[in-house]
Amino acid sequence: MHLIFGGTFDPVHNGHLRLAIELKERLGLTQVALVPCHIPPHRERPGADSSERLDLLKLAIYGEPGLVVDDRELVRDGQSFTADTLRQLRAELGEQKPLAMAVGTDAFATFDRWQDWQQIPELAHIIVVNRPDSALAPESEPARLLMSRRATEAGQLHLQPAGLVLEVELPQLSISATAIRSTIAQGQSPRYLLPDRVWDAIRSNSLYGARSGEH
Ligand code: ATP
Repeated sequence: MHLIFGGTFDPVHNGHLRLAIELKERLGLTQVALVPCHIPPHRERPGADSSERLDLLKLAIYGEPGLVVDDRELVRDGQSFTADTLRQLRAELGEQKPLAMAVGTDAFATFDRWQDWQQIPELAHIIVVNRPDSALAPESEPARLLMSRRATEAGQLHLQPAGLVLEVELPQLSISATAIRSTIAQGQSPRYLLPDRVWDAIRSNSLYGARSGEH
């Protein structure tokens, strides 16, 4: 199975990285592909540009063979739509190979605002990772989608190419990129919330308002 995990990664942090590793192990995969988005359609513009976010991501996974970066959304012009990425991947992988995308509950809660969202389950499985402080509104389209396509165990995802929604409970790390950016902007240290290499690069490139002399 090919599993992608998309996000702004602005910056990537240990919450993202642990999620990717835990999913890889839970699903018995050899790799998970992290897909940074170029211009996020549903968010404010990020605090570092695409190539800076990509560099941080590469530093974060350095030496970890189970994680790879897929930069296709950064090289594609214009907005990043997950449906386009999945169509491209489906064309590359063929019709039969299981393809899945992982999202946090917060992102899945607004899934029905994504471009071509109704086609996404035809292209891939969706793995919804529960996040603290976010839940699906009971009568919402995402909740209905989950009800109608729910997989009862992870193994089912290996048996068909797309179409299932799996909810996964993982140990929670209460880390967010927004909190990291504001910690840095206030001159405080985000150390141990993200890999040291990433924090070093943030300081040396003065990203998010960091001063290069800071610890
Ligand atoms: P922000 O705080 O700026 O919203 P973020 O930390 O949520 O950023 P994103 O790049 O927006 O990071 O998130 C990409 C994906 O990672 C989303 O599906 C989100 O739910 C998930 N995610 C982010 N932080 C965590 C975390 N601590 N644990 C598990 N999943 C996370």
